[in-house]
Amino acid sequence: MTPSETYYENLAKTTMKNLEKRHFECHYCKTAQEAVKLASELVPSDSTVSFGGSMTLAESGMADILKQRSDITLLDRSKAGSPEEVKEIYHKSLNADYYFMSSNAITVEGELVNIDGTGNRVGALIYGPEHVIILAGMNKVSPSLEEAVSRVKNVASPLNANRLSRNTPCAATGLCSDCLSPDCICSHTVITRKSAPEKRIKIILIGEPLGY
Ligand code: SF4
Repeated sequence: MTPSETYYENLAKTTMKNLEKRHFECHYCKTAQEAVKLASELVPSDSTVSFGGSMTLAESGMADILKQRSDITLLDRSKAGSPEEVKEIYHKSLNADYYFMSSNAITVEGELVNIDGTGNRVGALIYGPEHVIILAGMNKVSPSLEEAVSRVKNVASPLNANRLSRNTPCAATGLCSDCLSPDCICSHTVITRKSAPEKRIKIILIGEPLGY
């Protein structure tokens, strides 16, 4: 094993022990390819599935796999023809059997940290879909809650602001200025400290850097 493979595996073991104490279901896969296969197997035929905006789902190929499955009903907002249809998909997604997303950060102590602009993704994380499946590269694991929030504000959000061509201070400086600008993508900061019901939230940690 390479040093980074060993590091990710050791850090994942510590993190998973703490996630399991908090009633999350946990898995570890060395590669994105293995993670995508496992995640797809967790979803039975005839399920209704939705997903939140995520570079991890795009980079890992998870979004494509879901789009290729003809045995599930996929609620895909990229297929919406109008803002009204997007809104309808957001609402229907709250009744999905499975909801896919990543997490902006995960603490070694086992908390999930997510910041959303619209709130459709964190809304589904908190309540609604029967199951939530999270794919997260080990680059998302932070040593403390403070560092996890800082990671989201000073790494994930500026990168997302650039990706979405938002006119925010962080898009220009690379650092959060705690703005309230019209283009701000940070409306809701959600810390998930346990899964309720038990194992509703399933986390697949991946031994590769993925997403922001
Ligand atoms: S609050 Fe504003 S400046 Fe800070 S990360 Fe969010 S969008 Fe960027």
